[in-house]
Amino acid sequence: MARRTFIAGNWKMNLGPQAADRLAMDLKAALAGQTAVDVAVAPVAVSIPGVVARLKHTGIHVAGQDLAVEASGAFTGEVAGEMLREAGCTWVIVGHSERRSLFGEDDALINRKVHAAFRAGLLPILCVGETLAQRDAGQVEQVLERQLSAGLAGLQADQLAAMTLAYEPVWAIGTGRTATPDQAQEAHAFIRGWLRKTAPAFVADQLRIQYGGSVKPANAASLLRQPDVDGALVGGASLKAADFVKIIEAAPHMAA
Ligand code: PEP
Repeated sequence: MARRTFIAGNWKMNLGPQAADRLAMDLKAALAGQTAVDVAVAPVAVSIPGVVARLKHTGIHVAGQDLAVEASGAFTGEVAGEMLREAGCTWVIVGHSERRSLFGEDDALINRKVHAAFRAGLLPILCVGETLAQRDAGQVEQVLERQLSAGLAGLQADQLAAMTLAYEPVWAIGTGRTATPDQAQEAHAFIRGWLRKTAPAFVADQLRIQYGGSVKPANAASLLRQPDVDGALVGGASLKAADFVKIIEAAPHMAA
């Protein structure tokens, strides 16, 4: 079954409201009429309302970069999924490796955030992936299995089918070192095989798995051509409209 390519840009802690608006404006102009690929951008929280307004009616989705477990209350500094939804987000990134390594998020918390996203009416992009030490120790499948079984615990099959996973080997994020297309395909095929074993068949057929880790215009086509790579989660290269657009244009059904 064909899965629509889904390219998301993670702007991380870059681009305040003014700079985010300029990038959104450039994307709006460059991607006008583009309907072959699903596209989302994830600005910092304070830039979300402006980007949502700028991208209205363009078909480009806006995502949060993280969300709180709770819907409201005494949680200084947090942003609830409900608030992201109200601001116009449709997706939210959960469990990014920077949240795991810099902010101590573990699989149990990430699972609560995945559920919080659905409660708020958002679709999660759940990030999974091994460190270099884990890869060198031959633990890629073990790590992915742990992150998947804990991160996805308690979800209904229709929720799983609608959400997205991002395979992001930690050693490839922001390092300029990309997984080879074969390494990416191998990990994605493992993830899809795990889904096939643990959920009804339509989940493995429908759930999209993005690759993330130094995706650039030069390597996007070879990664996106892999049968189990359904898109990309792009960090650094999503900050330049021209590069992000080239990555979108590298999707197999765009290049046809
Ligand atoms: C990311 O932040 O998810 C990411 C993949 O970053 P980069 O593309 O810069 O490696």
